[in-house]
Amino acid sequence: MNNASFAHGNGKKPRYLNKLEQIPQLSQGEVKDLNEVTDQFVFRTNDYYQSLIDWDDPEDPIRKIVMPETGELEDWGRLDASDEESYTVAKGVEHKYSSTALLLVNEVCAAYCRFCFRKRLFMDDNEEVTKDISEGLEYINAHPEINNVLLTGGDPLIMSTSKLEPIIRKVREVDHVNIIRIGTKIPAFNPMRIYNDPSLKAMLEKYSTPEKRIYIMAHFNHPRELTPEAIRCLEFLLKAGAIVVNQTPLIAGVNDNAQVLGELFNKLSFIGVPPYYVFQCRPTLGNKIYVTPVEQAYEIFETARTGCSGLAKRARFVMSHSTGKIEIVGLTQEHIYFKYQRAAKAKDGSRFLVFKRNPNAYWFDDYVEAVDDYSLGDSASDSRQTSFDILEYV
Ligand code: SF4
Repeated sequence: MNNASFAHGNGKKPRYLNKLEQIPQLSQGEVKDLNEVTDQFVFRTNDYYQSLIDWDDPEDPIRKIVMPETGELEDWGRLDASDEESYTVAKGVEHKYSSTALLLVNEVCAAYCRFCFRKRLFMDDNEEVTKDISEGLEYINAHPEINNVLLTGGDPLIMSTSKLEPIIRKVREVDHVNIIRIGTKIPAFNPMRIYNDPSLKAMLEKYSTPEKRIYIMAHFNHPRELTPEAIRCLEFLLKAGAIVVNQTPLIAGVNDNAQVLGELFNKLSFIGVPPYYVFQCRPTLGNKIYVTPVEQAYEIFETARTGCSGLAKRARFVMSHSTGKIEIVGLTQEHIYFKYQRAAKAKDGSRFLVFKRNPNAYWFDDYVEAVDDYSLGDSASDSRQTSFDILEYV
């Protein structure tokens, strides 16, 4: 397939591919082996995204993002590696950081990333997601400390604008919610869905106001996803008044390469989409083949940044740990330095931690030899500590 067929995207919708038998490049043997994987972890792609794959390269990074591999069957990791479910406070609502609530509004994506940290949501018996946000709204209304709400899932932009609009409108009606975020990989998987929808533009223009913006949390993993269609989609979102930023996990075989990651950062900055977070790939069930050890990943991240302007190097490298977003700040010969960017408990809010290095660590829990541990309040008076607690809610 040739990406040129999508070049102008005038109303053309990609065709969803939900069965491996629909992928002509796979042999019958591969289909048989990989069906064992997709029996466990759902498969979905579409013909636009497939057109980006270079099938002559068995290690093609785009292929790695959506096409299953038998290595996923290795029994490694946990289904809910960040214990997200433990922060579920009402049906479809997670509340981990005081100022931020998550509404899980659907359990469908335009394609499924093989390394997805929420793959549990796509399994039959999961009940963490709801399209009915009434309980969520009630919860948010009762919690004035929540000043931003992330719509996520699944991918909220897979919903039609007519279904999404009432959700955005109702969240916008909550006075203390200033920022609405939409977490989405549609700009990479199906950018035409966005720029061919004038009603989406009208909705963004209406609800992303000068005082209270809508943020699009885009998810580009590799610079080759930034096709002319994707760039047109990002321009559409920016012109509609949304703020767009990018976050990506660091994935083995996709972007665990300083040159590739640096190119992604640079291209995003040229387009006007700041790189926001790079995540250590979570130890989610089936993810062994996608994970790079923490210290190696950090070195790739830092090296990638050396070739970037200040605007392109704004991302932080973090682990979404069950206790908070822990940034990997630096390495010395002996030690690794961590800092909480966001913390589930206020006492961890400014915590800085030093551990002995462990080159085999895949996650924060693999660091066991603590060297130092400091929080801003540690050497201050009780009243100062109180002011930090208050700041948490501003
Ligand atoms: S787009 Fe996000 S939620 Fe959907 S499969 Fe990819 S990582 Fe998971």
